Amino acid sequence: MDNNEFRAWSRRAADWGADYRANLRNRPVRPAIAPGEIFGSIEASPPETPEPMEKIFADFESKIVPGMTHWQHPRFFAYFPANAAPVSVVAEYLVSVMAAQCMLWQTSPAATELEMRIVDWMRQALGLPEGFSGVIQDSASSATLAAVLTMRERALDWQGNKKGLAGQGKLRVYCSDQVHTSIDRAIWVAGIGEENLVRIPVAGRFRAMDTVALEAAILADREAGLLPAGIIACVGGTSTGGTDDIAAVAAMAKRQGLYLHVDAAWAGSAMICPEFRHFWAGVEGADSIVFNPHKWLGAQFDCSIQFIRQPEDLVRTLAIRPEFLKTHGHDSIINYSEWSVPLGRRFRALKLWFLLRAHGLEGLRGMIRNHIAWSEGLAARLAKEADFELVTEPMLSLFSFRHRAAPGADPDEHNLRLVDAINTDGRIYLTQTRVDGQVAIRFQAGQFESTAADVDMAFDVICECARSVMP
Ligand code: PLP
Repeated sequence: MDNNEFRAWSRRAADWGADYRANLRNRPVRPAIAPGEIFGSIEASPPETPEPMEKIFADFESKIVPGMTHWQHPRFFAYFPANAAPVSVVAEYLVSVMAAQCMLWQTSPAATELEMRIVDWMRQALGLPEGFSGVIQDSASSATLAAVLTMRERALDWQGNKKGLAGQGKLRVYCSDQVHTSIDRAIWVAGIGEENLVRIPVAGRFRAMDTVALEAAILADREAGLLPAGIIACVGGTSTGGTDDIAAVAAMAKRQGLYLHVDAAWAGSAMICPEFRHFWAGVEGADSIVFNPHKWLGAQFDCSIQFIRQPEDLVRTLAIRPEFLKTHGHDSIINYSEWSVPLGRRFRALKLWFLLRAHGLEGLRGMIRNHIAWSEGLAARLAKEADFELVTEPMLSLFSFRHRAAPGADPDEHNLRLVDAINTDGRIYLTQTRVDGQVAIRFQAGQFESTAADVDMAFDVICECARSVMP
């Protein structure tokens, strides 16, 4: 592709993108395709000779787009959102064009320095105190892994990387059963072992860890000669928004000399609104906090900020400096690759810079407040219907509900059939979870382009489909 073609195809892609967004509302959220259909439509071997861009683009439109689940659809109410505000898409295009590797300050000074500035903007926006610095990781999973590795190294007196884990004390990490599976995976990958991830019982509306049980578990482990390393608390768990009492957990982590990592991957975005910060009161006592601007806030995936109280500990855990990476004479500057597991890194700060400037915090707060109000409204409407029950009350914009099955029918099967009917209908998209062992249907409003009318439509679709699956 020469430069003229590059210009023409970039324009064509931009036009396609604007049309796609304009017509998104008319598409089904989830495609009606069978597994293997797309795979079967793609040639089995790569081309030996160049193909014209017209044909490549036509195949993209005819083979790929119809097989996409539309995550930017205004009636995507499943999982959590992965919003890509148009302005952040524009920034990503610019980043793709420059295609810089931002691993060291000298490999991309502007990327490093903008990242420092934007992480601090977000610290202020979330109401976190001075003293936290941070890094933009690719995902919350990576941020949590970095935190778990740091707590491991701290607990092993910095000998884990050097000597391996064999022959060391048995490490223990504590969390509730409401945390995301990325915590399990971090524990596996860090070599701590699933059996040493201690699940503390939860209580109350927000399914918070019982801190008395937490402290008892830590003391019992010490007594048994095990090595408590850290605690992972959550604010806005994935299933139903489970939220720990961060102040109580932080106080105890301090008393017990343990590292505290807080996963607020989804709920963190809402903390730009001061009225929701009570959900993570005490968070300033954490050693690290992760939140994903690529979820609710509108920064194109991937973009996950890890705030860190003592970055020296993270760098001591992850920094590796072979000769070819040494930045002679510039060792006082930040080389962000020393703050994360991968060496190569994308320029992720630009899209946040564009997003925050184009919308302003007030614009983003308005969006989040609307989502929460609409979601609460929908929960209240469903609760009034005789054949529905709320399973969990709204936590920010997430709640779960269940439809009453016919007498004698299995309620789990009935509600799974309902989710399937809703998603096959295509006007909205929802997912399910289990609460106390029973299937519940999750609803979250968080799309950048959602309106109150979209949430009203969700009510109609849910009710219509529920009645259609009754015998
Ligand atoms: N933590 C929570 C609470 C989540 O909901 C998710 C994903 O939905 C994650 C962590 C993992 O996020 P990521 O995909 O950025 O690794």
